[in-house]
Amino acid sequence: MNIHEFQAKQVLGRFGVPVPKGQAATTPDAAAAAFTALGQPKAVVKAQIHAGGRGKAGGVKLVSSAQEARDFAARLLGKPLVTHQTGPQGRIVNRIYVEEASQIARELYLGLVVDRKAASVSLIASSEGGMEIEEVAANTPEKVLTEPIDPLIGLAGFQARKIAFALELKDKQIGQFANLAAALYKAFLETDASLIEINPLVVTADGRVICLDAKMSFDDNGLFRHPEIRELRDPTEEDPAEIEASKYDLNYVHLDGNIGCMVNGAGLAMATMDIVKLSGAEPANFLDVGGGANAEKVAAAFRILLADDRVKAVLINIFGGIMRCDVLAEGVVEAARQVKLNIPLVVRMEGTNVDRGKQILKDSGIKVITGNDMADAARRVVDAIGQGASR
Ligand code: ADP
Ligand code: MG
Repeated sequence: MNIHEFQAKQVLGRFGVPVPKGQAATTPDAAAAAFTALGQPKAVVKAQIHAGGRGKAGGVKLVSSAQEARDFAARLLGKPLVTHQTGPQGRIVNRIYVEEASQIARELYLGLVVDRKAASVSLIASSEGGMEIEEVAANTPEKVLTEPIDPLIGLAGFQARKIAFALELKDKQIGQFANLAAALYKAFLETDASLIEINPLVVTADGRVICLDAKMSFDDNGLFRHPEIRELRDPTEEDPAEIEASKYDLNYVHLDGNIGCMVNGAGLAMATMDIVKLSGAEPANFLDVGGGANAEKVAAAFRILLADDRVKAVLINIFGGIMRCDVLAEGVVEAARQVKLNIPLVVRMEGTNVDRGKQILKDSGIKVITGNDMADAARRVVDAIGQGASR
């Protein structure tokens, strides 16, 4: 789960990470009031969307009056902002953040990630802040420092100082950086974060080290431990189909193709996507209904697949182990009755109660194309939409 910059700054602030003061607003008048409340000659108005690259896209502006804050907020709010991370359709700006303006002397990069290779959380730092870290890593990898953090010891003082020196921080800034990095690491651990990215971390003209941007992502599996973080979820930033799927505990990822796939087991679901591609079409989704799915869950999954109007045919590929084929069939029948199924449906089932499952489908009167095995089913579903690979 991702959260907005202003929310990340609130969370980090609670852990003692230095962040500028600011106030979120959803109307131009509230933006003007926020400017006045800050009580400073200048402020920065920033679009709040779950994507970076806002600065370059015109989503961040330095303003010098309440009126200017109001005007810029009016220009952003309710409209899409297109950045290099949003895709061409952009993201609708529903909220802006009015923040005290900092005098920037240097822009640095600081991140914390779950580093699978090092089997730890790693601190990533670079003197090249304010730019895409992926680009810096690709073009000048020597400018990206990675420091794995021992999970038992935590971030050691010498590690923080080593990075501070490499970032060419001076005097008091070194201690400030060490405190900031330690607080950031504490926040990472205690919130079950999967990513924290501070880009830029800045040195101000008066020599303070503070976070000017903040991105935080959390491990969904840890969210039940953090109701206060779960509350920060912004459903307007998420794919509605994925939100619906998460209500039923379905592992669903929306993709761009036109073959809806319903599969049990993540491995089989991946293999199914591969074989659809191999047969000449593109999967519309990844969907693992899980091992213990009941008819209601299957029906929900089926409804979600069919709600995507790009889906031109559905492929159900089930290996009945814990999941029984008759339960699956009941779910499919139930869902097909609820939504009027008017696209081809190909089913390949194998395993527990397969005969009973096939019988249920047959008795239901729903038009089902049966696949004998995975490759056959994939071929049939692709043929059904007239996109079969020539072979
Ligand atoms: P994004 O990463 O989406 O472009 P940032 O929050 O990093 O958004 O802002 C882009 C740039 O705007 C920053 O690199 C910085 O130069 C400037 N900026 C952002 N916030 C402030 C601020 N509070 N004061 C001064 N400049 C800012
Ligand atoms: Mg940024």
